[in-house]
Amino acid sequence: MSRTDPPSAPPPAKPSAGAGRSPAPPSAPPAKAKRRPNPRASKAAGAKTAPTERRLRGIAITEGVAIGPVFGAVEPEIEPARRRIQAADIEAERSRLDAAITQSKKQLVKLRARLDMLPEESQAEIAPLIDAYLQMLGPSRLTRTMRQRIEEGLVAAETAVHDTGEAMVAAIMAMAEAGSEGSEQRASARRHADEVREISRRLIRNLTRQPFRSFAALPAGAILVCEYLRPADVALLDPARLAGVAADEGGSDGHTAIMLRALGVPAVLGVADLTAAAPPGTLAIVDGGKGEVILDPTPATLAEARRAVTGFARQRQQWARLKRLPAITTDHQVVELQANLELPAELPLIAQAGAAGIGLLRSEFLFMNRERMPNEDQQAEIYRGIIEAMGGDPVTIRVLDWSGEKEIDALIAEGLVPDLPPENPALSVRGLRLLLRQPDLFETQLAAILRAATAGPVRILLPMVTTIAELRAAREVFERVVRRLRRRGERLPEPLPPFGIMIETPAAALSADALALEADFFAIGSNDLTMYTLAVDRGEAIVAPLYDPLHPAVLRLMQFAIEAALLLRRPVSVCGELAANPKFTPLLLGLGLRSFSMNSSAVPRVKQAVRAVSAEACARFARRVMEQNDSSLIDELLSEFAEANE
Ligand code: PEP
Ligand code: MG
Repeated sequence: MSRTDPPSAPPPAKPSAGAGRSPAPPSAPPAKAKRRPNPRASKAAGAKTAPTERRLRGIAITEGVAIGPVFGAVEPEIEPARRRIQAADIEAERSRLDAAITQSKKQLVKLRARLDMLPEESQAEIAPLIDAYLQMLGPSRLTRTMRQRIEEGLVAAETAVHDTGEAMVAAIMAMAEAGSEGSEQRASARRHADEVREISRRLIRNLTRQPFRSFAALPAGAILVCEYLRPADVALLDPARLAGVAADEGGSDGHTAIMLRALGVPAVLGVADLTAAAPPGTLAIVDGGKGEVILDPTPATLAEARRAVTGFARQRQQWARLKRLPAITTDHQVVELQANLELPAELPLIAQAGAAGIGLLRSEFLFMNRERMPNEDQQAEIYRGIIEAMGGDPVTIRVLDWSGEKEIDALIAEGLVPDLPPENPALSVRGLRLLLRQPDLFETQLAAILRAATAGPVRILLPMVTTIAELRAAREVFERVVRRLRRRGERLPEPLPPFGIMIETPAAALSADALALEADFFAIGSNDLTMYTLAVDRGEAIVAPLYDPLHPAVLRLMQFAIEAALLLRRPVSVCGELAANPKFTPLLLGLGLRSFSMNSSAVPRVKQAVRAVSAEACARFARRVMEQNDSSLIDELLSEFAEANE
């Protein structure tokens, strides 16, 4: 992929050595006072003393070690001059804004088209982000307010864009700070604020014809060091040329981090004062697994880093080869490894990872970012597209799992949920509880899934079940929908899709023997099961150390549910984050699980773990683990078992 912005943008400025990001507009994260004297530059040429090794800590983003000279990318300033206009100029300024919006859209569409030059894993991460930008440039509140500001504030287009972006970012952040939201929601607010900033910057650059940041001069094998890296910047990086990335700012779950992970480039973000400490040309090591940047390493450190680079490259090659191999234990037990899907854009990844279908399609995406709820036809078309793309591999569609903290404006707009989220969303109307209270919503989704299910094997999954009465009520709705569709003369799959439940509450896990009599299959949601069992919010940083899926209570609930399912020969899988960690694989196999669904990029690693063990040894190991009552001991046992089977 080219390292310049889309061709329609003005030519990029040449980065000047040593410069960091220029002073940012007020909407950008505050520029730091830096540019400390370069200790290397101040030494006389040919000075004998070697620079001292320095180690800086940051946030580990992408595993892998990179060694190379620092390259600093320049961010040309984009603060627009404030300009007032006369009433007679309103139309002209609106036209300028419209032209900039069209140009920005064209650039983003071009950028999207060029994504196929990136590794496939990256495409699936970046495409939805570009789609989000394009959506904001459409008939959104953002563009409406910009137009309004030109007219009511009598300001030039770039001033209107700048002020609107600023106001919106401030409102988003104030709401996130003032509310009682968890860290997940605050992180999502920050991401949304970043998207608004990015769109404003792009529009201003196009309006004022200022250049975009360029990575054109990035030498092969360099380490990109900058204060701040936007998601759109990451989309311009060439992972084949770039050795590593490190930045002063950024967090572990922003879009920038997600995209760097997708590129697979060793990366560390949030390294305070990095740009000041690492002038261009400095020899650096980026350890993306440890979250460390080492500047001017000693020969011993350098040698160690070189060994780590080779080791990691070998491991990657092994994972890539695994895609074509079956997921089978050494004693020939076949294991099903499927993918979780949150967005249709992830579909190419699933095939690439060698996943055997979709074990959890979180259908929330269908209802988000739209003003009205999708109707039966619209939903059926989307489900059919996904089922067809899987080419005969099974797709498990989970019906809407709404909870107060997930923003679905259309549900509020249509009066299906209250305007204000409940005090305690995790314990309020969530998942199946909402669907049973809003039968039209439930029936529409079931009808759409049933119609689409003629295109390939489908299973229907119910979220947040706590009682057998809920399962029975849901099945009644399902049967009513089947009858109605038959009366309408719709073609339905034969046999009808299996109707299963998530085991993600302690109540469901402990009633699993009764539920297995009536549910066609179980999918264990270890994320919520851990949260509800331990009374620990899964998205809250302050209690994060207490969130422990290896807690014996969680494991015992899982064991009980798995045994209940196996006794009645009901298929049972695990689709929480636990499934993606290869260290847990032997224990899960030993508990009797033969089906896992996970983030598709984890499939090769888990496959490797499956292929390294015998199911019999895993069963013995699981018995040992289940005798323990201390999760740190369990963790040690898992590490020991994993090491012994490497
Ligand atoms: C779970 O709770 O483990 C699960 C898979 O569902 P979600 O993460 O969508 O709540
Ligand atoms: Mg869940």
